[in-house]
Amino acid sequence: MNAEIIAVGSELLLGQITNTNARFISNHLAELGINVFYHTVVGDNAGRLEEVITKAEERADLIIFTGGLGPTKDDLTKETIARHLGTTLEMDEEALQSIVAFFERAGRPMTDNNKKQALVLKDSKVLVNHHGMAPGMLYKTDNHVYMLLPGPPKEMEPMFQFEAKPMLARLLNQADVILSHVLRFYGIGEAELEFRLQELLDRQTNPTIAPLAADGEVTLRITAKTNTEEQAWELINASKKEILDEVGEYLYGYDDDSLASKTIELLKEQSKTISAAESLTAGLFQSELAAVPGASAVLSGGVIAYNEETKISQLGLSPDLLKQFGVVSEETAIAMAEAARLKFHTDIAIGLTGAAGPDAHGDQPAGTVWIGIATSDGTDAYRLQLSGMRNTNRLRAVKLALSYIIR
Ligand code: ATP
Ligand code: MG
Repeated sequence: MNAEIIAVGSELLLGQITNTNARFISNHLAELGINVFYHTVVGDNAGRLEEVITKAEERADLIIFTGGLGPTKDDLTKETIARHLGTTLEMDEEALQSIVAFFERAGRPMTDNNKKQALVLKDSKVLVNHHGMAPGMLYKTDNHVYMLLPGPPKEMEPMFQFEAKPMLARLLNQADVILSHVLRFYGIGEAELEFRLQELLDRQTNPTIAPLAADGEVTLRITAKTNTEEQAWELINASKKEILDEVGEYLYGYDDDSLASKTIELLKEQSKTISAAESLTAGLFQSELAAVPGASAVLSGGVIAYNEETKISQLGLSPDLLKQFGVVSEETAIAMAEAARLKFHTDIAIGLTGAAGPDAHGDQPAGTVWIGIATSDGTDAYRLQLSGMRNTNRLRAVKLALSYIIR
């Protein structure tokens, strides 16, 4: 089955909001094995909406609309679809009751145009909106399935995930169990990972294996569809073994793990503490760790030593060292890490310095990063040459620092 997602809303075209609905829906359709070939965005205009519906009907079996189901004049998605399909809208009593109840709860009078939200395509299957007023719809013709969803993500996402998606799965007459397992890698690029797994990726149909790269991390989502959970895990584990035989050295975690959560987990196991002296990242390293519940068992604290003066006054770095080697240098990264380790009495300390970009720092080109890691065994330093935008480089430096700790 092939799908097209049509997001309706002039604010999307004006650049005021991002089309996160298409991303969300595409992700879930991939899990069902439904191919999405087109994302379309169209304004609140009946003529142009009808044009894109006609186009979508030529190239998709499943057409999913988001937005334009509300009570105002510019909300015209279902009216346009009804006209296009030569059908009518009728009042859905259940939806109307829930809208009336919504206004009673809120203690507000209900205006007439709100009733419009309870109008649904005749003979459609209604999707209940548990987080708002406008119901969704599923409507079938001989050749197409049309799905209408509200625009606000907080209404659309649960409706899609818990009502629409199971309905689509049944429609596809699919297996009862769909299970996904995510493998998380660090220190290997997407291209190399795909290259090394090429043969497996090409041959695999169930489970499917989908690579995804973001923020320097690569993940593989393994999705199995079968009749029982046990069978699904058997399929997933067989693929997982093949994958890890090939690229297991780069694996750092699974599913909801993050580099930070794995770092906290590891240090907890070893009963070790950590601190940081951050220049380049100005607290981002500590912030990533603090995002993990229970971080306080491991993270002591640190200093943001952004300019030279603070590196000298707060970390006790020698002005001569800074002058001789420069702020962005191996020596400075090491001195920062060692100073933090002493200051905070931790087992491990990190020193982060670099030129985030876009400008070079003296003779150090943009993207040059030095990471110092001080432990009781001594201090190591790593040099990175990153090529992203300023804040991407800062985040990557943090993630690499974390990956060196857990490696
Ligand atoms: P409402 O009842 O709130 O009017 P609606 O179904 O009519 O809902 P729209 O009016 O098109 O939907 O959009 C309402 C809001 O939902 C938008 O202002 C925007 O914040 C959000 N929204 C709409 N479409 C998208 C989208 N494709 N991606 C992300 N957010 C969206
Ligand atoms: Mg609206």
